Amino acid sequence: MKRFNHFDATSIEDAVSLLQKHKDASYVIAGGSDLVGCLKDKIWMAYPEAIINLKTIPGLKEIRTDEDGLHLGALVTLTEIAESDIVKKEWAGLAEAARRTASALLRNIGTIAGNICQENRCWYYRYPNKIGGSIDCVRKGGKRCLAVPGDHRFHSIFGQVKKCIAVNPSDTAPALIALNAVVKTTTRDVAIDAFFSAEMGSQSTVLDRDEIVTEILVPHPAPGSASAFRKLAYRKAIDFAMVNCAAAITVEGGNVISARICLNGVHNNPRRCQESEALLIGQPLTDALAKQAGELAVAEAKPLLQNIYKVQMAKTIVADTLMDCAE
Ligand SMILES: Cc1cc2nc3c(=O)[nH]c(=O)nc-3n(C[C@H](O)[C@H](O)[C@H](O)COP(=O)(O)OP(=O)(O)OC[C@H]3O[C@@H](n4cnc5c(N)ncnc54)[C@H](O)[C@@H]3O)c2cc1C
Ligand code: SF4
Repeated sequence: MKRFNHFDATSIEDAVSLLQKHKDASYVIAGGSDLVGCLKDKIWMAYPEAIINLKTIPGLKEIRTDEDGLHLGALVTLTEIAESDIVKKEWAGLAEAARRTASALLRNIGTIAGNICQENRCWYYRYPNKIGGSIDCVRKGGKRCLAVPGDHRFHSIFGQVKKCIAVNPSDTAPALIALNAVVKTTTRDVAIDAFFSAEMGSQSTVLDRDEIVTEILVPHPAPGSASAFRKLAYRKAIDFAMVNCAAAITVEGGNVISARICLNGVHNNPRRCQESEALLIGQPLTDALAKQAGELAVAEAKPLLQNIYKVQMAKTIVADTLMDCAE
């Protein structure tokens, strides 16, 4: 790791002013479970001169509910979400997503804001500088993508964004999208559907460089609602998703009246399955309908040679997650 200045922010205002002072050469750090790896491996083109610690800011670790819904402070850990009786009861899909993220140790330090702000994953992009130097692909400002002609077995099956096929790896992102959350930052409220953007260079969100997530608000589900999350990964104990899926369904009089379904690990941004959602409306949620929704979810897939297998996974996981909701 190279030398950098470490600041313990005393307040959100202090953290923002430190970011503004150091401009592009600074990052905020929460649990550090993603960021420290990036620093150690020197994966960025420019090494940051300032790391601003958010953990020293009071008031960002609260889980509470009110009439608007569930408020999760930016520093709430994944373990706290997974183990919260409040979350498990009303927002089961989110509790399960947090429970399935990484390992117990990483969930103890990893925060909800860090989870949705982590960078997209690609082994070429994250190739450690100390082993033969950095690989300067398109995402680092280089000219070509190494994954398309190279090893892309875990990459996008829905095409490229700016020639890049690195996938968004977050487990909680699809759950928050299914549950229609709002990300509250130091400057605005961002609907979760508009939060992720692989268009933004190396970062995976629409956040400005001096903008910090302070809270995530998840609305109360309507009566008759259920949510669920599933993940397919190589190893159960710890691994990023090859494909994951979250769904939230509301049923009235035996028929689905609202549905939100989101896949992740399949594209540069988490992917809403809007055609599948539309199919469900006005119908009883049966096994056959869930399978049809799975088919529709991958209708536009454009897999590459080594990741065709993910299409079948995505199709199946959508159907299975929907049936979890039905149960
Ligand atoms: C071995 C390993 C396995 C993993 N497995 C999984 C997995 O299965 N699923 C999964 O989803 N993730 C996984 N991760 C990724 C990561 O650990 C988690 O996503 C974790 O939740 C990140 O949270 P953090 O608080 O540690 O973030 P940090 O590492 O502190 O930060 C991550 C990024 O978010 C930014 N950031 C943090 N907080 C804020 C904020 N409040 N506002 C704005 N930006 C912010 C940081 O600047 C940084 O760019 C894994 C990581 C490792 C090392
Ligand atoms: S997929 Fe993206 S991050 Fe990976 S090598 Fe290609 S451009 Fe770089």
